[in-house]
Amino acid sequence: MAELHRDTDSSTDGDGDGDDGYPEDGEELRPDYDRRICSTCYELYSKSRGNDAVWRCSCRGGSYEGRRQWYIERYGSAPDIMETWSLCCLCAQDLTFGVSRWSWLVCQPCREAVTKFHESVGAFLIPIGAHSLMNGVGLQSGANIDNEAIRRFTKAIRSLSIRWTLMLDWRRIALVRNLEAAGAHPGLNLTVRQLRWRLRRAAKTDARLDQANALDQFLEWIGYKSSS
Ligand SMILES: [Zn+2]
Ligand SMILES: [Zn+2]
Repeated sequence: MAELHRDTDSSTDGDGDGDDGYPEDGEELRPDYDRRICSTCYELYSKSRGNDAVWRCSCRGGSYEGRRQWYIERYGSAPDIMETWSLCCLCAQDLTFGVSRWSWLVCQPCREAVTKFHESVGAFLIPIGAHSLMNGVGLQSGANIDNEAIRRFTKAIRSLSIRWTLMLDWRRIALVRNLEAAGAHPGLNLTVRQLRWRLRRAAKTDARLDQANALDQFLEWIGYKSSS
């Protein structure tokens, strides 16, 4: 455990993430210090708030139904997305916040990379948010909704869903690789901050681990070829 403390204490990285990112529910801890990555199921859990069903990973008794009940008991209803903080679907080393259908799937640095990529290809290819509108897919209300418009919309939603599933698959692959590079052997559950700190060191010799290259890694994995 001494090594874990050293990681955290020496991680004065000045990466500018400051104190922003506190969940709106008043959670008192910085999520990247608090959230740990379970080396068994690869889900996030909170050590300090482990009694709350909403912050347990699957192998610590976390479940969709348990989370739903937790919200209902406190707020009377459950949001569409209940994780509060989750790992970025592209780099699998940074956090993204959301407890609604407007939740982000990718972290801020990755969003910026994706936005530039979308501008360069002139299309929304990489899903960045949970709501279809965040990914350029919507059905305009009004007089022009005919069968053809509905068909196009349905096709676009299906395609979006496939791409989202691909990103979830990729996140698992990238996370396993990241944990391996960070030396997280089975039983060592790193905090997200510890993972990032270790990866920054490892990225000096392996560019694949650099967050800045996450989008390129994903595009390579899906076999995307630039037309230029
Ligand atoms: Zn677990
Ligand atoms: Zn990211």
